[in-house]
Amino acid sequence: MPGLTLYLADEEAMQTFGGRIAKATAGEGVIFLEGDLGAGKTTLSRGIIRGLGHAGAVKSPTFTLVEPYELGAVRAYHFDLYRLVDPEELEFLGIRDYFDGQSLCLVEWPARGAGFLPKADMTITISPQASGRSLCLAPSTPRGEGWCAMLSEESR
Ligand code: ADP
Ligand code: MG
Repeated sequence: MPGLTLYLADEEAMQTFGGRIAKATAGEGVIFLEGDLGAGKTTLSRGIIRGLGHAGAVKSPTFTLVEPYELGAVRAYHFDLYRLVDPEELEFLGIRDYFDGQSLCLVEWPARGAGFLPKADMTITISPQASGRSLCLAPSTPRGEGWCAMLSEESR
């Protein structure tokens, strides 16, 4: 499955690229976001959620674990599982309703929810560079492959 690697020089480029991811997904699917604290997972999520049409603030769901967004016909759920103690807690959050296949789910720190999360369509790994960030997009379903094909076509 061919993926995509790219370099984004600053926060603005990160948000703009998030907007392109939003368009590629059309608001449905599951994206895992990997990278250390401060890598830019929330920044990219913000770009994606704004790209879906959200005009207000996008706060980090560090303490709430999940922030829901209703954007017309599109629903998005932004997870940050950093503080999840036991993956079983996800059951109490009503995780099944979130991953109903008709929403876009963005998951920071997905490893903390291992065993209780559905399969991702795409995993984005963010690595800080001397300045800026490099992003590696790895699809894991045909849907994710379609997104990567669309995004690499545009990046040419
Ligand atoms: P995480 O959610 O991975 O912990 P955040 O998105 O909260 O990270 O924070 C990332 C920090 O890096 C922010 O200060 C943001 O301004 C900065 N940042 C995000 N993307 C880039 C980029 N492409 N180049 C440089 N700095 C960036
Ligand atoms: Mg974050």
